[in-house]
Formats: sequence, structure tokens, C-alpha cells
Amino acid sequence: MTWSEYLCFNEHEKIARERVKIKTIITGATIVTMDEQNNVIPDGAIAFEDDRLTYVGAIPEELNQYDRVISAGGKVILPGLINTHGHAAMSLLRGFADDLPLKEWLETKMWPMEARFSNEHVKWGTYLAIVEMLKTGTTCFVDMYDHMDEVGQAVEISGIRGVLCRGAIGLGSQEEQKQKLEEAATFARNWHGAADGRITTMMAPHSPYTCPPAYIARFVDRAEALDLPIHIHMSETKREVEQNVRDYGQRPVAHLEQIGVFNRPTLVAHAVHVNDEEMDVLKNYDVKISHNPGSNLKLGSGIAPVSRMLQKGLDVSLGTDSAASNNNLDMFEEMRLAALIHKGAEQDPLAIPAQTALNMGTRIGAKTVFLSDSIGSLEPGKKADFIILDFEQSHLQPAFDVISHVVYAASGKDVRDVYIDGKQVVSHGVCLTVDEERVMYEANRVIREIM
Ligand SMILES: [Zn+2]
Repeated sequence: MTWSEYLCFNEHEKIARERVKIKTIITGATIVTMDEQNNVIPDGAIAFEDDRLTYVGAIPEELNQYDRVISAGGKVILPGLINTHGHAAMSLLRGFADDLPLKEWLETKMWPMEARFSNEHVKWGTYLAIVEMLKTGTTCFVDMYDHMDEVGQAVEISGIRGVLCRGAIGLGSQEEQKQKLEEAATFARNWHGAADGRITTMMAPHSPYTCPPAYIARFVDRAEALDLPIHIHMSETKREVEQNVRDYGQRPVAHLEQIGVFNRPTLVAHAVHVNDEEMDVLKNYDVKISHNPGSNLKLGSGIAPVSRMLQKGLDVSLGTDSAASNNNLDMFEEMRLAALIHKGAEQDPLAIPAQTALNMGTRIGAKTVFLSDSIGSLEPGKKADFIILDFEQSHLQPAFDVISHVVYAASGKDVRDVYIDGKQVVSHGVCLTVDEERVMYEANRVIREIM
């Protein structure tokens, strides 16, 4: 029995996941396109065939050409949300260690537990995260972790889209470093383009504070050889920046620039402690930024200067980081936090408007994971990755302004249906591709074994 067979609910859903070239149109919903003009189409329609959107607009007069017509009155359709930084398997450690600063949290709590993780832990932890993400409207996620073949398989089976990388901490022996680098490169090469193209890969030295410069440089060389982007944590805490200056005489941005990291397309996570000059450097190299407001707040790391970054034209998207430092993977919450905390920090209610927060969770998200040609907005020709929200609920009425409700009033629990690559993966809030009950059972089993 293959995993696919084992995890699927039944024959019906297995068939539903297979490629079927039928023309489907969903009508009557409010379509939030997130195209360049941020067009919102009230009482609109969205059509797709196979994995691609074929039509987005007003309800066409002729519906005969479609094999399947789905009526979605009172619903809102959005592009799937894009979570641009995380460590999925760490969902096993949700609530295991709270209320600590990053250094203590990592060194005394996370790393000792993670050192005991086997393939099985990563498998079930990742499924746990994927089910949560799918049910809360995330259709594409970035994952930086270990045992990545398990993650690749979970992405393949669950139907989600993943931008995956084997994250390497280079604090061990030369031999250990070399092994991790080879693992990272092999994974990146083997899985790039896998799962019908739903998986892309990056090369990921964990951070400047866990990897010596020469080791980061080797990752850059490999990324160059494989023509892949780099993903790295950077300037998450003040302490990290000070340590970088102490150890290498430079702040992290100059340090990574000197190593040559930014010569590759790069996505940095956090960038909480970056000054004006550093933002200019990042902009010069078109470095992409994953802003993780929930995790940064919880670990007391600080508040990234996001509105300044946006003023400078940097692409800033949103990530949850892991459920161990968040403690959920609901991207609606990250959008809301992004829209709120900068207003408070800057005492400016215009700092990050709702529309900007939604851009960060969708269209800019796609840009920062180098997939803007295929996802991030609802436009003909793009992938049919979209989510349907039920707006006929008291907390979402009256619906004067859909964007406002999506960012300030909705949550992932309002997601009803999810489609990725034109295949339905969530229906009426139930994940079709993965057996959620079994995943919860196995996740509890494997983590309790090592507690
Ligand atoms: Zn992280």
C-alpha cells in the first residue's frame, strides 16, 4: 500500500485528486483577484481547467461550455495564502517551551528535542502542520528543516505547494558540515520541480550565527551551480547583530553581502534589526524579506521596520515561523498582526493598510518565493490555487469592505474550501487529502515517545 492510498480517506477522494480535464466555473462569489490593480469583482466568476485558471471576471452569459458549475453566493474567493517562512515539523513542539528569548529557547529547549527527531517525527509533524495550513487557507509554504525527503513526500501526497530546503546549522565538525551540505544539495536537486511542479527548492544555510562564513560561501556556490535561491535567517535579534559585530566586525547584512549571498536570489527571514543603510543594501540586491510578526513578538525579538522597507520598495511577505514560536500557522493572524503592530509601533494608523497586509500574504508572497509567474493572484493562466471563505457569518457582516474583513475580522477558521493546482484539497473545512484524525494520533504518539 502506498502512502497515498493509506492517507486518503477513500476511493472518491483519490479519484478527485487525479488530473481530470474538466472545465469548472464557480459563480456568484466576490472575487478578490489581488492582481496589480487589486481588482475585486462582486458577484463574479472564476473558471479553471486542469491546474490553470482560464477565466476571472463577471459571470459569463453562456455557462454551457462548462462541465461543472458551482454556485458560491455569499462566499469570497481569494488567492491561496503564501507562508514564506517556517519549520513545519516543529508543530510537534507547539506549546513545549513558551515565554523565553530566542537564544535560550533554541539552545535549551528546541535543539535538544530536535536532535532526537527521526524521519517519523518529521513526517508526522509536517503532516500536522500541512493539515493546519490547508484548513486555514495556506496553499504554499516555505519549509526549512531536516529529514526533508519526508517533507517532500508529505507535500506530494497532501496536494499543498512547497518551497523546500534542507536547513543546515554549521556548528559541528567539518565532516558533519560537509554531510549536511551534500544532503541539502541532493535534496534540492532531486525535488526541484517534483509533485507536478508543486515543489521548488532553495539552499539554506540556517543563519550567520550558526554557520561560519566559509560554510555559508559553500552553500552559495552550490546554489549557483544548481541555479537556486538562498533562504537564510538574518538579524532576528539585537543580540545576534551584536554577536556578529563581535565575531566578524560587521553587522549581518554587510557580512552576508561580503560572503556573496546576495548575488543569488535570496529570501531572508525576519530582518528585524536592520537600519536604513542596510535596507538600501538589501534593496540594491533585490533581497526578499519574510516578515514573521507573530514569532518576533512572542520571542521578544522586536518589530521589523516594515513600513520603511515598503517605502524603499523592498518585497516583504509574511511567514508564521514554526508553531513552536507562534503558536499557530494561521496566515490570517499574521496579516492582521502585520496590519496592527506597525500602526501601534509608529503611532500611525496608515502604517500598513489592510490592502498592503493582504498583498504581503498573497501577491508579494509569491514574488518572495520566486513564483510570481504562477501564483499569488487570480488571473487567467496562473495556477488554480484559491480559497473560498464563508462570509455568511455574524462576525463578517455587514460586508461593506471585503478586504477589511479578510484582514481585520476573519480568521483561518472561516476558510471553507481550498483548491490547489485546480484540485480540491479542503471541502467544507475538512481536509480531503490527509486523514486528520490519524495525523493527530501519530503526532502525539511520536512526540510522547521522546518527551
Ligand atoms: Zn525560522
